[in-house]
Amino acid sequence: MFRHAGESSAKIFDGVKVSSIQFADDDAGKNSQFSEMGRPVSARWSRRDVASGSINFEYIVDAGGRAGIVSAKYKKNRKVNQGLNNIAAWAY
Ligand SMILES: Cc1cc2nc3c(=O)[nH]c(=O)nc-3n(C[C@H](O)[C@H](O)[C@H](O)COP(=O)(O)OP(=O)(O)OC[C@H]3O[C@@H](n4cnc5c(N)ncnc54)[C@H](O)[C@@H]3O)c2cc1C
Repeated sequence: MFRHAGESSAKIFDGVKVSSIQFADDDAGKNSQFSEMGRPVSARWSRRDVASGSINFEYIVDAGGRAGIVSAKYKKNRKVNQGLNNIAAWAY
């Protein structure tokens, strides 16, 4: 998905970690699914070479997998699927 986004003319940044998201408490935010915290408008990022910065955006798609910063850190809406409770753990 990441590479495809790049091929489809999105600007993509590899090796960059999003550390936090900033929200704007404006009218658009009050009507969005983020109403309780405002509209997500920018993200702080960092790289291994200690570079860091902030990027503004209009839309956010969190494809962060299990780490998923939007659901885990902000919306806190992760639910454990109880139907999978009888499945064994594994190791490599
Ligand atoms: C050990 C293991 C074995 C598995 N085996 C199978 C299997 O055999 N078959 C199968 O179908 N599924 C398997 N899965 C499940 C499968 O890997 C996941 O369902 C799938 O990878 C989820 O895809 P995703 O794109 O949502 O997230 P991911 O593939 O996890 O991608 C998330 C990406 O976001 C990046 N990211 C996360 N947080 C940030 C952040 N703050 N800033 C920037 N980037 C961030 C991560 O580095 C990663 O590159 C396995 C999972 C595990 C853990």
